[in-house]
Amino acid sequence: MIKLLSYLLSKGVVTQKKLLPTADPEWWGFPDVTTEACAGAGCNGCVEVCPTDAIEIVDGTTPILNLDRGACIGCGMCIEVCPTKTIVNTTTYAVATATREDLILSNSGKAKIETVKKTPRTNLHIFKESVHARVVSTGCSSCDAEIGASGNAIFDIERFGIHIVASPRYADALLITGPVGKAMQEPLRRCYEAMADPRVVIAIGTCAITGGVHKNGYTEANGADSIIPVDVYVPGCPPHPWSIIHGVLVAMGKAEPYKQYPAVAG
Ligand code: SF4
Ligand code: SF4
Repeated sequence: MIKLLSYLLSKGVVTQKKLLPTADPEWWGFPDVTTEACAGAGCNGCVEVCPTDAIEIVDGTTPILNLDRGACIGCGMCIEVCPTKTIVNTTTYAVATATREDLILSNSGKAKIETVKKTPRTNLHIFKESVHARVVSTGCSSCDAEIGASGNAIFDIERFGIHIVASPRYADALLITGPVGKAMQEPLRRCYEAMADPRVVIAIGTCAITGGVHKNGYTEANGADSIIPVDVYVPGCPPHPWSIIHGVLVAMGKAEPYKQYPAVAG
């Protein structure tokens, strides 16, 4: 017992002090898109290796590469095959966005969709001090494991005023994981309806955003957006605990959402 206590004391405080630190190089495989010129359809390497059709190349005088993080499962294959460094490993955990469009990265120097279709919520500051969140899990549970990890001593999500609760009646925020197949669509809707207004909805993980590898399958599991309105998107399969914390902080109005380029009015 004394040995164990002295070991624990020798370790000191393990909680990471810096909010949203730069991504660890070991966290390999989640792509970023630079403004480097792409070789175009003549190469097509990334399009061919991507298992989820998350990448498109619009060929022209200057080929444009668009990569949808909302469909990406972070396999890292595109990073490995890209000869021009147009696709590289990301250096940030802060990847949560306030619109679906902001998940689409491009090497063109401007946002792919120039007219912002959905206006992000402006009343999120009401959750600034604290938020109580209910999780609805409809997937493989890896995203849930990362939500669990965000509460451990290293990340300590509770220090930001974020509390996971058991009932939607007590919840301000709804965290959805998994692709929301047919069997979970009605329970998800009912959970959302059981929450009092104002409430905020966060889709956690590629499945919850687009259906991921289940997209367009027989279970009609194409993500949460088609069932209830989503306010914040946290990409990744599964997302890192810091990315989950970033998503909830965005939902609380305490952190800026990720934007590759400023929106251009269209
Ligand atoms: S890292 Fe994402 S975008 Fe790249 S090949 Fe894998 S799934 Fe596709
Ligand atoms: S996004 Fe990935 S980790 Fe999360 S539920 Fe889907 S398959 Fe599992």
